[in-house]
Amino acid sequence: MGMKIYNSLSRQLEDFVPLNPEQVSIYSCGPTVYDYIHMGNARTALVTDIIRRYLEYRGHTVKLVQNLTDIDDKIINRAAELGISAKQLAMQNGEAFFEDSQRLGIYPADVHPKATEHIPEMISLIQTLIEKDVAYVIDGSVYYRVNRFAEYGKLSNRKPEDLLAGARVEIDERKEDPRDFDMWKAAKPGEPSWQSPWGKGRPGWHIECSAMAMKHLGTTLDIHVGGEDLRFPHHENEIAQSEMATGCTFARYWVHIAFLNIDGRRMGKSEQNFILLRDALDNYPTEVIRHFLISAHYRHPLDYNRESLMKSDGAFRRLSNCLDALKKYDGQFEEGDTTISPLQQAVQEMKSQFIAAMDTDFNTAQALGAIFTLVSKVNRYLSADDENAPPVLAQAYHALTETCQVLGVYDTQARDGDGDNVEHRDHLINLLLEIRQDARSRKDWDTSDKIRDRLKQLNIEIQDTREGATWKIVS
Ligand code: AMP
Ligand code: ZN
Repeated sequence: MGMKIYNSLSRQLEDFVPLNPEQVSIYSCGPTVYDYIHMGNARTALVTDIIRRYLEYRGHTVKLVQNLTDIDDKIINRAAELGISAKQLAMQNGEAFFEDSQRLGIYPADVHPKATEHIPEMISLIQTLIEKDVAYVIDGSVYYRVNRFAEYGKLSNRKPEDLLAGARVEIDERKEDPRDFDMWKAAKPGEPSWQSPWGKGRPGWHIECSAMAMKHLGTTLDIHVGGEDLRFPHHENEIAQSEMATGCTFARYWVHIAFLNIDGRRMGKSEQNFILLRDALDNYPTEVIRHFLISAHYRHPLDYNRESLMKSDGAFRRLSNCLDALKKYDGQFEEGDTTISPLQQAVQEMKSQFIAAMDTDFNTAQALGAIFTLVSKVNRYLSADDENAPPVLAQAYHALTETCQVLGVYDTQARDGDGDNVEHRDHLINLLLEIRQDARSRKDWDTSDKIRDRLKQLNIEIQDTREGATWKIVS
């Protein structure tokens, strides 16, 4: 069975087949940097991180782009309240976002484009739409002509009349149609602005994402991620702009993440009911917060409350106690042993259940279930004190750390941190040992000695034993 993703565009579970098998492209709508991020934003960012980690685990190369909206009304207003420039406020909060993401063990995206650094791309996209008569200019602002895009409403599943009735459309007398939205806003006095063919102004939010996504990922990308609130109008408008400009499908799979709620209401800045991620991280370990945020499938709402966090805290302790007890068996595999003990079988079951869960639209809740079932079995095994245990326990340790690494619920070392470097180093040394072994079997002693001596200079000592060569780091 291959991977399946629930595509919010088709409202169906679909087989995941990347456009380019060499590289899966993902765009995730990042934060508007007018404040620190809250736990709701963190849920969306974390799910994106896990989608990326899991695709890599399944052998894909991924290019992830996550933007920063660093110019918009909220930034301008907040900066004015604080008496600083919009640029300075966005810069401070952008840095805080990276700091908080890193504390949550989120790997940095491959590109973090900023809206203000892509103004020429936005202008050129708007120009294309004007040339195609899909946009019109009024008093220095440019509007998208919604009735030119026959498929408008396909993502949010809204018909034109629904769009007119209940939609959050801006009232603007100058628009031809109330559904039309601005892609370029004429400058207002005192606001940051950029020169354009229509006079000074600044981009609208939707054009920012279309331009940044296509600049870094091409006209068609594989997976577009964002919170549920962005489905309409933001993502609907991103599709309308991009597809009318290029004639290509903009995003092939749309992933919308359900809300993190608090007291049954969406956690949000405007609701004044938010918990900042950095405050939560001051109170709970990273792994506990990660466990909590992925304890429900991403398409289900999740409620923030102390009891749930305490449950995640308990789960993390059970997991780390088990892995700490298993650590000493690490590497004690026995080759050639083909008998399958019940625990070995449980290890294999856990891995296949983990993959089946994650393959089915990234079901982290079920994946965690598989991990914790194995933890209970290992604990029973450890207390039974079976003398034949070590190789089996080494397998359990390996399987648990590998799957926990995908979810980041045990070892949250940063991508470029020591963990990956050490693993990489070990692979390289083992490769050299293999080459040396080949040389020795050809009686090419010069090459064999050269490898040993050069490694020695790097403080890596090889010992030839009857079972083959081993190595250790010497100081
Ligand atoms: P914003 O800074 O409001 O533009 O939001 C940044 C990202 O967080 C977007 O993808 C939002 O959809 C997402 N988001 C905001 N609030 C929540 C929430 N309560 N639960 C889940 N995701 C959210
Ligand atoms: Zn966006």
